[in-house]
Amino acid sequence: MRDTTEHANSYYAATANWQTDYPKLVGEHRCDVAVVGAGFTGVSAALHLAERGYDVALIEANRVGWGASGRNGGQLIDGIVEVDKIGLIGKRFGNEAAEVVRKIGVDSRDVVLEKIKRYSINCDLKFGFLDVALSQGDLDYFQSEIARKNANQYPHKMELVSKEDMHTVIGSDRYIGGMVHHGNGHLHPLNLCIGEARAAEERGTRIFEQSKVTRIVHGDKPKVVTVDGVVHAKKVVLAGNAYLGKSEPKLYGQVIPAGSYIIATEPLDADLAKELLPRDMAVCDQRVGLDYFRLSADKRMLFGGLCNYSGRHPKSISGAIQPNMIKVFPQLKDVRIDYEWGGYIAISIKRIPQFGRIQGNTWYAQGYSGHGVAPTHIAGQILADAIAGDMERFDVFEKIRHWKLPGGKWFANPVLALGMLYYRLKEIF
Ligand SMILES: Cc1cc2nc3c(=O)[nH]c(=O)nc-3n(C[C@H](O)[C@H](O)[C@H](O)COP(=O)(O)OP(=O)(O)OC[C@H]3O[C@@H](n4cnc5c(N)ncnc54)[C@H](O)[C@@H]3O)c2cc1C
Repeated sequence: MRDTTEHANSYYAATANWQTDYPKLVGEHRCDVAVVGAGFTGVSAALHLAERGYDVALIEANRVGWGASGRNGGQLIDGIVEVDKIGLIGKRFGNEAAEVVRKIGVDSRDVVLEKIKRYSINCDLKFGFLDVALSQGDLDYFQSEIARKNANQYPHKMELVSKEDMHTVIGSDRYIGGMVHHGNGHLHPLNLCIGEARAAEERGTRIFEQSKVTRIVHGDKPKVVTVDGVVHAKKVVLAGNAYLGKSEPKLYGQVIPAGSYIIATEPLDADLAKELLPRDMAVCDQRVGLDYFRLSADKRMLFGGLCNYSGRHPKSISGAIQPNMIKVFPQLKDVRIDYEWGGYIAISIKRIPQFGRIQGNTWYAQGYSGHGVAPTHIAGQILADAIAGDMERFDVFEKIRHWKLPGGKWFANPVLALGMLYYRLKEIF
């Protein structure tokens, strides 16, 4: 797999509602806020700012949704950090801070739903998400998770599924139980991203594609520089996440790009699709190198996994992922694979998203660590709120210090690969 400035050869790109074709940034421009990167974080920040009346320029190196946002598993899962991290935040910064983070997590999915509804975005939204168990430890976690959510007046219905009843939710013998989240679900992420970008454009945002930001000149009057143009802005938002690279040296090495990959089968016969996922839910197991899968609107199996930290894509994505799919669904051993693609997620070493500022007026959010569809949306809202002066939620995250591995990603990736091996071994023994 080799990236170009056009979309990856994904099922999503092949079924996009339209192909975006925004102009290149050429010449001098002025705006209130320049947003770098048009994935969910950047588009959400731009849209929330535009809704508040800001004059925004959104600058994308490739295409809107070209990065992880247009390539992901489409699993819409609420929450912004794992529950143990909420506990740590509580210990370090107090219960109020922990409560702010918990609430951000619960609200994150609603931000997505509000945008879909408000702007009538056609993105194949379906409710229903299934966590599956491979071990007793997973089942214990499901029990405690439901108890914790009930204690916190979690607003959505949750349901445990026993081993005997698993056939009602999945046509696989691999799992020993499950937990259904009725509030979570799945969607077509690229159509969501381009739909939101169009909404931002309709509210006055100027969008530029194929315009890589090569340098940001910080100061009272920051400048965002591309090969052919420059944007003078009062404020800047950096939303390049795993793909930002060295465009902002101060953030380089603060998140580690990790590869995750998806295959899409040919459209399945309706009866087979129903046998595999009778309630058409998105599914995820509990391992570090997890399997995640779901049916597309046209009944393909989209099966993902293989999170790798080596920085290199596998030689054959199908070769790596298809055996995992057949382990779960032997029924799919003879189906054709029509698409295979992958992308980089941004790992934050603490597994807590990173929010911060550079020289006061350049804002960023990054490092969702593999679970970003809902968190990126609320991150964009939090950034827009903070720029407009409401710092409450931003402050909680900005206080958290993050580690930067020395030597940037080439040193960091092997370190993370070792870390991941450690956790995988813990799963085996
Ligand atoms: C294969 C895969 C599967 C995943 N599955 C799920 C899932 O099912 N559910 C879930 O919740 N999360 C999932 N994730 C994670 C989720 O997709 C990400 O957390 C989220 O999309 C990150 O959004 P973002 O906008 O921050 O970054 P991105 O979507 O990566 O966008 C960053 C954008 O910035 C642009 N950019 C970077 N540098 C510059 C520059 N110098 N100038 C201009 N533009 C620049 C890039 O071109 C890119 O378009 C998955 C990720 C991957 C890769």
